[in-house]
Amino acid sequence: MSREATDPVVAIDGPAGSGKSTVARALARSLGWTYLDTGAIYRTLGWLAHQEGVSVDDEEALVKLCGRLQDLSFKWGEDGVLLVFLGDRDVTEAIRGEEAGRWASDVSRHPGVRAALLDLQRSFARRGHLVTEGRDTGTVVFPRARWKFFLTASLEERARRRLREMGMEETPRNLAVVMEAMRERDLQDSTRPVAPLRRAEDALEVDTTDLSPDEVLAHIKQIVEGE
Ligand code: C5P
Repeated sequence: MSREATDPVVAIDGPAGSGKSTVARALARSLGWTYLDTGAIYRTLGWLAHQEGVSVDDEEALVKLCGRLQDLSFKWGEDGVLLVFLGDRDVTEAIRGEEAGRWASDVSRHPGVRAALLDLQRSFARRGHLVTEGRDTGTVVFPRARWKFFLTASLEERARRRLREMGMEETPRNLAVVMEAMRERDLQDSTRPVAPLRRAEDALEVDTTDLSPDEVLAHIKQIVEGE
């Protein structure tokens, strides 16, 4: 693809726990570019549906709820933590964790929901250079992104990372529970008919299983800066 035919967007996709958020946040901060966590949008919608008693199977009602996400905003907190606000309510904690991830996966299956949230996601690129991450940022949301990466890692390593992130002890039982939740969510995300989790043909695959966050960042940053 010629440079002119592309947008100044870094699109990082991959399954849960593959290291997307860590690298995307660090990259955006170090380059001073806008950052968009598309998963946080679906997580907030899932949480909102849960709060309002809207069924995750009721596509029409979920599409209506999407209108409320116009009030979604992101702010950097201390130590590079991303804070997510809906209006003036801080939902950062409420949307963390595997349960909220599952709600997000359930609401994001619906074509109407995905279509309703497309403009909101694309609006972030109107501010200039963007680093974004999710499941379909390189395939559907920003197909003309100049840099596309697809991160992977073994299921066990991804579950370990999630346990650490949630401050939970790594017992065999905790690990098994999180591995099963992730496996189910990945399966649902990659087998849905609309915008499934898959590598864009022109995305570079990076297996992060044995790499530290700094190593992943250095690798990706070198490619982005070296274009
Ligand atoms: O990345 P994160 O774990 O926060 O994403 C939560 C869920 O939101 C995913 O499992 C997926 O179902 C959905 N999602 C999506 N498309 C994106 C980002 C997230 O369908 N671009």
